[in-house]
Amino acid sequence: MEIYRSIGLAEAITAAGKPFEGEAGVARCVSLADEWEWLYSDAAPRGMPEVTAGEACMTDQNAVEPILLAAGRDHGARYLPNTELVSVESTADGVLAQVADRATGARTEIGADYLIAADGHRSPIRERLGIGRPGAHTFMHTMNIVFTAELADLLPKRALFWLINDPATGFGAGFVSTAQADRWQLSVRYDPEIETERDFDEARCRKLVGTALGRADIAVEIEGVAAWEQGVGVAETYRRERVFLAGDSAHVWPPAQGMGANTGVQDAHNLAWKLAAVVNGWAGPALLDTYQDERLPIAKALAPLIVRNQQARLSGGAEPTDGPDSEALIFGQHYWSSAVIEPAGRQVFATNRETVATPGARAPHLWLRRNDRRLGLHDLISDAFVLLTGAGGAAESAGTAWCAAATEPRTELAMPLHAYRIVEKAGDGRPEDLLDLDGQWPARYGLGADGAVLIRPDGYVAARFEPGTGNPADALRAALRRILRADGASSGGPGRCP
Ligand SMILES: Cc1cc2nc3c(=O)[nH]c(=O)nc-3n(C[C@H](O)[C@H](O)[C@H](O)COP(=O)(O)OP(=O)(O)OC[C@H]3O[C@@H](n4cnc5c(N)ncnc54)[C@H](O)[C@@H]3O)c2cc1C
Repeated sequence: MEIYRSIGLAEAITAAGKPFEGEAGVARCVSLADEWEWLYSDAAPRGMPEVTAGEACMTDQNAVEPILLAAGRDHGARYLPNTELVSVESTADGVLAQVADRATGARTEIGADYLIAADGHRSPIRERLGIGRPGAHTFMHTMNIVFTAELADLLPKRALFWLINDPATGFGAGFVSTAQADRWQLSVRYDPEIETERDFDEARCRKLVGTALGRADIAVEIEGVAAWEQGVGVAETYRRERVFLAGDSAHVWPPAQGMGANTGVQDAHNLAWKLAAVVNGWAGPALLDTYQDERLPIAKALAPLIVRNQQARLSGGAEPTDGPDSEALIFGQHYWSSAVIEPAGRQVFATNRETVATPGARAPHLWLRRNDRRLGLHDLISDAFVLLTGAGGAAESAGTAWCAAATEPRTELAMPLHAYRIVEKAGDGRPEDLLDLDGQWPARYGLGADGAVLIRPDGYVAARFEPGTGNPADALRAALRRILRADGASSGGPGRCP
């Protein structure tokens, strides 16, 4: 939601989540008619004002995708519905794709500089390019039964989903709410060696739903069944020439902890500014190597953690508590690449809340006021680098010098870069001043009054400039050239402070 907020979509997505407003968390039970044990309850706060201005929002993919599509169109994207990509050729110079209109069969060729394969976990593009997923496997086959039933009398509260486990009979299932009040989904395990969707006829589905409800007398209308697999797999590479894998095509794992689409959005957020920088000429092509350098280690570390949590959930046991918590998984990801100057190390997730701005980590949140508007720091970061500095203290000129230093890369590299001073008190209304509402700049950034920090368009810290750094313009120029590979240098290790 922090990312959606920064591009102005949070409000629409929150509105799309309205049907889930009364939803009360995740519960475990023997059947819905029995006692429930809450794994997560509605008492859990939706906001984390110490960490982000974004607020968690429960909504479904069907409601979010039209919002994203409309936003893409507003920014000039062309959408071709009912169109299948049937071939793709990637060379050192470009990508040539052939697409087919599914209604007419008509084929069209599309040439492009780059291609993002966001074509799901079976990813025909990944397969065509021969990109493997070592160790990928399916560990559970699941049948989804979608049905309608009036359950208000049975359910004192509506969970997002219930995990059903009856040790006496061995019955296990997931029971999921949908955006429609009387529509539900039951997920049960099946064995594809001996049965298919056809074996789940209406009578069998009704019986399974009755068992999950713990009541056989409730009227149920079966709408349909669909098989899906729970598996895990991470692509061996995220890039082949000019094609990048993102989302499920790059990594897939079970739905525990809701890290599927969320991680895909983070992939896109990491890749989009790099592509924009290269295509618009303010970065060298080597910057694109850092997409894989940064995102692949995250997926490799996430996969076993999520599988372990899902297996604990399905077996009815307690979820492991010895790994990073969900805050660390989402907000504590660390990058180690040449797009970061002096990254903190090769630790993938911060186990504790990130308090001091660290190169390679997400920039710590600040509540700020600008022109009478209260906003979160990440609201200011979406399509440009951001340089933050203190007000300069006794030598007020120091803060001003950092802001002035930002004008040179704007013209020399023709890159988007905003510079702001973080001030303790509302001052003389300079446009570059941001009022630090909670006084957290000193503790979370540790830069004194005249250091500075450079934040990338995806909200990650690119470089720190400690107090006493020499000429701000020289330091900033050198850092940006190193990060953006504007010198045409080949891919290498992490950057070094200029
Ligand atoms: C039961 C379940 C619950 C889940 N719960 C959560 C959750 O709570 N939170 C969360 O974050 N994630 C969740 N996920 C995971 C989430 O749904 C996926 O991670 C997400 O949909 C992946 O998005 P994607 O765009 O990468 O791929 P997809 O959503 O699979 O989209 C790929 C698209 O590419 C299209 N495509 C494929 N091949 C071609 C072609 N040749 N030409 C044209 N189009 C093509 C497909 O038709 C599809 O529309 C859940 C998944 C499941 C199964």
